[in-house]
Amino acid sequence: MKKEIQPSYGETTITCACGNVMKVGSTKKDLKVDICSKCHPFWTGNLTRRDTAGSRADRFKKKYGLA
Ligand SMILES: [Zn+2]
Repeated sequence: MKKEIQPSYGETTITCACGNVMKVGSTKKDLKVDICSKCHPFWTGNLTRRDTAGSRADRFKKKYGLA
């Protein structure tokens, strides 16, 4: 008896912890990830933008002696 071990290349659903579901072509099935481009702080800007804005404001203040 021969078992089918060859993975079939097809559409795979990647489910993120944030609930975002992406579909990609892969030989793997139903992947789960903790973070994706949709909920990553870098992409959402929740952390990065605030930090950048803060440091920029500080630099601005220092430059013009407002700090
Ligand atoms: Zn996500």
